[in-house]
Amino acid sequence: MVIGILNETSDKRVAVVPALVQKLVKEGHSVYFEKGAGLTASVTDTAYEEAGAISKERNSILEESDFIPTIHPISKDEATQLKANATLLTLLQPFQTDEFYKGLSVKEITAFSFDMIPRSTIAQSMDVLSSMASIAGYKSVLTAADLLPRYIPMLSTAAGTIPPAKVLILGAGVAGLQAIATAKRLGGQVEAFDTRPAAKEEVQSLGAKFVEVEGAADASNAGGYAVEQTEEYKQKQKALIEEKVQKADVIITTAQLRGKPAPTLITEEMVKSMKEGSVIIDLASSTGGNCALTEDEKTVVKHGVNILGSSQLAAEVPEHASQLFSRNIENFLKILLVEGQLTLDFSNDILRSSCVIYNGQSVYGETDSLIK
Ligand code: NAD
Repeated sequence: MVIGILNETSDKRVAVVPALVQKLVKEGHSVYFEKGAGLTASVTDTAYEEAGAISKERNSILEESDFIPTIHPISKDEATQLKANATLLTLLQPFQTDEFYKGLSVKEITAFSFDMIPRSTIAQSMDVLSSMASIAGYKSVLTAADLLPRYIPMLSTAAGTIPPAKVLILGAGVAGLQAIATAKRLGGQVEAFDTRPAAKEEVQSLGAKFVEVEGAADASNAGGYAVEQTEEYKQKQKALIEEKVQKADVIITTAQLRGKPAPTLITEEMVKSMKEGSVIIDLASSTGGNCALTEDEKTVVKHGVNILGSSQLAAEVPEHASQLFSRNIENFLKILLVEGQLTLDFSNDILRSSCVIYNGQSVYGETDSLIK
């Protein structure tokens, strides 16, 4: 099998690092890479070559590869260049990018989407949403510390004592928990809120205070994802968050609802109530944001508050993010390859759930039809 590594032109990460190339070559596969593909992730062309990969032009990689794993989907135009029956593995986000994946319905392409992998224990090792969210949570706090015109830790000096920054985390999932841990390590006074009652114990185990709102909707059957809340709950939540927002120096928001716009948790009025110079990092910006004033992939100053909207912060730690992404691909390949051959065994729940195009036909939402 020929595996292609492409330059992720709008991202500092690369999907496959030399450690995986080495294993694939050892198993008898050929690996092509686009010149400079790993440079922004600290991977030189020489490192790829030493691992056994061969440098090729982008067009040749598209035309000759059997399997192309990427972080961002290739363009519709590039999809038409692919070899017949090629297999793609990427983040197609079929919830949001309906138009795009229709563009792949050429040349009997098969495409798997990482974000459709079930959030089960067995799939955890290939879950890029988790590995990238964890990095984003870490980087969000460092970015906030950088933007904040204040210290995060308490500082006792001969000139007086500076109190610790108050850090509020809204959404204590994978990204939120890593943000809590990072903010605690920096010496912040951390509080966190999540609609999933199960988050309480996790928040507390990291030494942060859990902000509790009674009466959350039962999410036990939602596969680890949060569910929409009742109006009464939303009102209670709003009142409590209002109080916390006013006092916070840093707010990190990560709240997402699968397949739906992110819930607005911070209104313009709440931003107005914040102290001058405070910081909001909104990690849910690509699905609308948790703050009403967030602009996706931008930093804006509104009512004296710095608001950074980014769902791509993992790309700002490109070396380790690429290593983990590559590891996730390696683990996915363990179920996709049988004796070195691409084998689409759709009795496997993970393969079935993540397949969005099969032989050029969209199977999104109908993957049960793949079981023969
Ligand atoms: P996510 O990115 O979909 O959402 C982030 C967080 O925002 C979640 O914790 C969610 O409950 C919370 N949220 C949603 N609406 C909210 C609101 N209105 N107010 C406050 N918070 C709100 O979720 P995630 O971080 O990817 O994962 C969530 C859960 O799933 C976690 O418990 C995680 O441990 C679990 N998980 C399990 C696996 C696995 O077993 N493979 C993988 C990933 C995540």
